[in-house]
Amino acid sequence: MGEFAGKTIFITGASRGIGASSAREFAEAGGNVVLLARSGALINDLAADIGPSALAITCDVSRYSDVETAMHTAVAKFGSLDVVINNAGVIEPISALATSDPDAWGQAIDINLKGVYYGMRAAMPIMQAAGGGTILTISSGAAHTALEGWSHYCASKAGAAMLTRCAHLEGAGKGIRALGLSPGTVATEMQREIKASAINPVSLMDWEDHIPPAWVAKALIWMCTPDADEFLGQEIALRDEDIRARLELAS
Ligand code: NAP
Repeated sequence: MGEFAGKTIFITGASRGIGASSAREFAEAGGNVVLLARSGALINDLAADIGPSALAITCDVSRYSDVETAMHTAVAKFGSLDVVINNAGVIEPISALATSDPDAWGQAIDINLKGVYYGMRAAMPIMQAAGGGTILTISSGAAHTALEGWSHYCASKAGAAMLTRCAHLEGAGKGIRALGLSPGTVATEMQREIKASAINPVSLMDWEDHIPPAWVAKALIWMCTPDADEFLGQEIALRDEDIRARLELAS
């Protein structure tokens, strides 16, 4: 029996990258994992691979009804909602602000910012009624630094970081543990898209400089423990040497 036995972990963007790695690690730690993404075939395959403790639900986080229905399905199946990981995100459309497509720009906000709000909005009543829960949101250095071609991404991540603070302000007294995680750069499909754009310093980084998704999963698992309580309402940076030492991750 692992440390997450009997707990339900709801992970958006679980079809690949950080979300898929986290699903495997939380399942390994004994949790029931609920896998959300638009790519139904990928999350079905991952759930089949993990076994009966995994449930795949096709979901577009930019649609509130999808998120709310998925959460209720998860509770009906596993009996609780203990951790929500707002991980789903997109980097496209990479484009200069002055020439960006307004509809595509807005779609990124719908996913990266409104998707996080939808996750919190649907989870908080369930968690508060149950006495508490943990809401982790994947942030980015782009929440605090402007980068060329990323106005949609920077704006959405800055908004999502503020939502963590809001969820903490309103939820801490009701048992909600809200934290953000800025992972640094991670070797996933998103970094391939960034590299192909060649638009800003992140796209020029060497692939070897990106950390593996499993490191992010390890951090997320740790953030569910009381050891991380000193960071409630805040954002943890995985580039931080002290955090890496605490998690026993190589520098
Ligand atoms: P990734 O490999 O591109 O995975 C993104 C995931 O989000 C996929 O599972 C994708 O699944 C899902 N997703 C996208 N739009 C969605 C939607 N509308 N509804 C539901 N799911 C959706 O990227 P990643 O690197 O793992 O990124 C995960 C998170 O980490 C993102 O929030 C990203 O901004 C953040 N982050 C990444 C890095 C990095 O260096 N990689 C750095 C900082 C922060 P479908 O396409 O199947 O829906």
